[in-house]
Amino acid sequence: MPGNPNEIKLVNNAMSNVTRRKIMNFLSTGDKSTEEVGGEVGKSMLDFHLKLLQQASLIEMGEGTVKLSEYGRNFLKEKEEKSMDKTADLSQVKSIDVTEVRQLLPCIADSSKFRVIANIAPPLGGTLKVFEPLFPRGKYSDKINALIIQKGEIITTIYGTGKVTMTMIKSEGEAKESLQNLKSTINDAIVKGVAPAPREKVRVEPMEIYKYLPQTNCGKCGEQSCYTFAIKLMSGEASLEKCTPLKESQYALNQEHLQVLTAYI
Ligand code: SF4
Repeated sequence: MPGNPNEIKLVNNAMSNVTRRKIMNFLSTGDKSTEEVGGEVGKSMLDFHLKLLQQASLIEMGEGTVKLSEYGRNFLKEKEEKSMDKTADLSQVKSIDVTEVRQLLPCIADSSKFRVIANIAPPLGGTLKVFEPLFPRGKYSDKINALIIQKGEIITTIYGTGKVTMTMIKSEGEAKESLQNLKSTINDAIVKGVAPAPREKVRVEPMEIYKYLPQTNCGKCGEQSCYTFAIKLMSGEASLEKCTPLKESQYALNQEHLQVLTAYI
């Protein structure tokens, strides 16, 4: 079992990659064949990822099979317990209110739908993560300090600053109703506490990522096409920063939306 600094370094390195974290989470549902692991996380560099996890003593490999080691199971359990602890104390959090919807913009992915921007006050700041278990398809992203909630085709993003964005909204009425539901869910939790909900896995498809890329196939990311880049992004072999055209002001909204989507990967 890892204990010395070198072994801990191996574990940290193994868990620093999104594909390897996905493999660990997949194995937490039971022993798998390597074929099944490849089907879940993609076959590209699978041997390499498995080898690093094995070197870190997090998994054990047999004849075409993979399973969590005892250390790997304890490692995941400890991580889960730590994150549950963080969801406990809401005594300092004030109830929120939703200010009026500020803007209705055409949605980038579907011009017949709207993108809504609103504000909640007071902002939830660093406590946002605590609310993640309230939403079975919710995901907190440290990187953008935002809680992302998927419900049907609507993606709602609550930022620590109080800004709230919603995409694929049909009407202003639907936006207001969704915001009121959000407010009630959060305020109820502030009063009653947050009970962990069963998690639902959100699967983002490459085509969904592709919709928000510039679609110019310029090659600046090192890939032949934007669609190939989307696939590499999904498998953890590329990062959003490599698409430099996204930094241009005309793609500011696309980039914001892609940051949200890639938080689910
Ligand atoms: S850099 Fe961006 S726009 Fe250019 S090909 Fe890659 S993904 Fe597409």
